[in-house]
Amino acid sequence: QKALRIAVIPGDGIGVEVTPYGVRCLEAIGEIYGIPLHFEEFEFASVPYYKKHGDMLPKDWKTVLSQFDAIYFGAVGMPDEVPDEVTLWGSLIKFRREFDQYVNLRPCRLIEGVRSPLAGRKPGDIDFWIVRENTEGEYSSIGGKIFEGTDREIVMQETVMTRFGVDRVLKYAFDLAQSRPRKRLTSATKSNGINTTMPWWDSRVREMAEKYPDVNVDKYHIDILTAHFVQKPNIFDVVVGSNLFGDILSDLGPACTGTIGIAPSANINPEGKFPSLFEPVHGSAPDIAGQGIANPIGMIWAGQMLLQHFGHTEAAEVLLKAVENVLARSEPDVLTADMGGRGSTKILGEAIIAEIKAIRK
Ligand code: NAD
Ligand code: MN
Repeated sequence: QKALRIAVIPGDGIGVEVTPYGVRCLEAIGEIYGIPLHFEEFEFASVPYYKKHGDMLPKDWKTVLSQFDAIYFGAVGMPDEVPDEVTLWGSLIKFRREFDQYVNLRPCRLIEGVRSPLAGRKPGDIDFWIVRENTEGEYSSIGGKIFEGTDREIVMQETVMTRFGVDRVLKYAFDLAQSRPRKRLTSATKSNGINTTMPWWDSRVREMAEKYPDVNVDKYHIDILTAHFVQKPNIFDVVVGSNLFGDILSDLGPACTGTIGIAPSANINPEGKFPSLFEPVHGSAPDIAGQGIANPIGMIWAGQMLLQHFGHTEAAEVLLKAVENVLARSEPDVLTADMGGRGSTKILGEAIIAEIKAIRK
């Protein structure tokens, strides 16, 4: 069996703290299921690297990372030291674009033992996927400033949507919806206010829907959609949105399921031409960095998505089960502060590793 080659990039802040637990969970699972995993760690795509080299990445980063099957990424950014747009565009956004990771897939699931801030919601009530377009849309490099610094200053950043780019992510979302029992797809739009790109987005959804007669399709304007996430999250199955809408929804969704600290994310190049990237939804959390209290589950669950992506279904199931079992026990000494506990990254991380080994027995 050929080893799965994984480039590990811890990044900054709590990224550095949660990454080792993600790697150790994968190692534990790999050992049990005989999946050969080869990890190699890189210090680039971090603020310390930037300070040393004046750039977030080495010149040959694309060649280096292309030799891997996957990238396992912590989080990047230290806004007090380097502006966020420099760190983000200098690393993660480059990976997503140059490796054509056009699908950003994020689960929202209310898990037993984690309290939802939404009143009266129990496990099973919230269980859906967000599919975010990940390479174009509002995150565009078309635009700029004119008359900068004068009172006639003009600033523009154009939303760029292409038929090729939108259709391929819609196809992914429709395929996913079709594979699920409820077969329901919700599209995020704003065609009332943004009257060029968004009505066009809607028309691409309609055309794609003709190829999936068994999928139930609806759409909501993004503003009311955020309200529905809070008031009736149970109606959703697969939600698809543009780069910006998908980004916003995928912090809100996991927040509705308790904490963004547990939410994972897969940046996928479905054709497998380039490595896909697996990361937690959260950022580097400078406000809690260095305290050892970050929730490691987002990172660990991202590792679960990695296993799933490469077809290691049973191993992925066991890893998720281990997380669920530990959460279901709901021990205040184990859970991290974002889940109402007083545990630490280490205590929670070790508990999950121990649970993986216990399930096996
Ligand atoms: P953030 O996700 O880092 O933090 C938001 C809030 O959630 C903070 O209060 C933080 O303490 C809390 N939080 C996040 N993850 C947690 C965890 N695992 N356990 C417990 N609490 C957790 O978002 P932000 O504050 O908007 O951004 C901070 C930095 O991270 C910025 O530099 C930003 O650009 C960067 N960022 C990076 C990524 C990424 O690398 N993919 C994503 C988002 C933000
Ligand atoms: Mn985000």
